[in-house]
Amino acid sequence: MRVLVVGGGVGGLGLAQGLRRRGVDVTVFERDAGPRARRQGYRLHLDTRATSALRSCLSPALFARLPSITGTPSRRVTVLTPQLKTLHTVEITDPDSTSVDRGALRSLLLAGLDGTVHFGSAFERYASLPGNRIRVHLTDGSHADGDVLVGADGIGSRVRAQYLPDARLIDVGTHCIYGRTPLEGVRSSVPPPLWDGFCPVTDRRRLGLALGLVRSAAVEDYVMWCLSARAGVLGPDLESLSPAALHALVAARLASWHPNLRHLIAEATVAETFALSVRSSVPCPRWTPTRVTLLGDAIHAMAPSQGSGANLALLDAARLCEALTCPGDLIPAIGAYETHMTATGFAAVRASLKASRPSLLGRLPTRR
Ligand SMILES: Cc1cc2nc3c(=O)[nH]c(=O)nc-3n(C[C@H](O)[C@H](O)[C@H](O)COP(=O)(O)OP(=O)(O)OC[C@H]3O[C@@H](n4cnc5c(N)ncnc54)[C@H](O)[C@@H]3O)c2cc1C
Repeated sequence: MRVLVVGGGVGGLGLAQGLRRRGVDVTVFERDAGPRARRQGYRLHLDTRATSALRSCLSPALFARLPSITGTPSRRVTVLTPQLKTLHTVEITDPDSTSVDRGALRSLLLAGLDGTVHFGSAFERYASLPGNRIRVHLTDGSHADGDVLVGADGIGSRVRAQYLPDARLIDVGTHCIYGRTPLEGVRSSVPPPLWDGFCPVTDRRRLGLALGLVRSAAVEDYVMWCLSARAGVLGPDLESLSPAALHALVAARLASWHPNLRHLIAEATVAETFALSVRSSVPCPRWTPTRVTLLGDAIHAMAPSQGSGANLALLDAARLCEALTCPGDLIPAIGAYETHMTATGFAAVRASLKASRPSLLGRLPTRR
């Protein structure tokens, strides 16, 4: 069996690792020109879902490297006011709850996959061939044939667009500006609860500032921050603004906030500031399983409010790997994977929307 995976992100690489480990021929087509062609974003929260999936997909030697890239355990979430008073605290009971730099995680997931991952290979479309084969056409005019096609190509998935053209995304109506600040120059300004976990800061009206630390041997320690607000509150066309303009906007919006928070923003690596508007998948009805399937954001993208997306992409990868390598018929195994994957993934989509924009829940179809 040859498995073709479109997308070398968290989920696609996890799946490739798992399949390779079990001796399956797998090829990953990744649109980026190389592993460092594009910034991979910043801190990801990982929990027991990711840890168990990585244990299943990675070789024992690679899995043993995980602690060297993850940070200290996240023990609690502490919600603060703009003047750094504690509003409330939620204890985290998951012993695996931690953080990781996205680029460091991707490097770990790429280890040993030379020859398996084809960079600069953007998927265009697929076609069914006689004999249950599938042909993947790339935008450079080349093609590859295999027995199973996995769309792991993220929120804008072209595989999903062709396979499930009725599956939709909605704009959640939340805009975020992300940035990061090297920890070294701002240690004394770090709110004490941040050393133990994640800190959302809220003015309880219009603005939220999420703060998270990344401390590991893999990268320079830093504070990740994200200012979020309803669309329009931070101004129009945020995504067209330069990093410097976005950074200045955050600094201006926080002008009356605690001096320590202003210092965290002032010392940021300005060029690494970016904006995004949050989108979410709309759960779609179950489809008849075939040799084409999907994982991660390609089918259940969600608002980042609960830090679940990467955890679920890895969980999907581990479950799909088991389905593709278990004895028995392939299509029922893919169908069983999809039943689990959509149940877990769409529940997380609903939970993330409930946490960030409950008013939009009514726009999702009712649970079946
Ligand atoms: C700002 C932000 C913060 C987040 N924080 C967290 C967090 O703390 N914890 C958490 O669990 N999740 C978090 N998430 C969500 C998480 O990043 C995603 O859910 C996760 O990356 C999904 O993995 P994936 O493999 O499905 O897709 P991705 O990681 O997006 O990978 C998709 C890959 O497909 C490639 N691709 C796309 N189109 C094509 C094509 N046509 N041909 C070939 N390749 C293609 C892309 O280049 C990319 O490499 C966050 C997301 C964002 C945006």
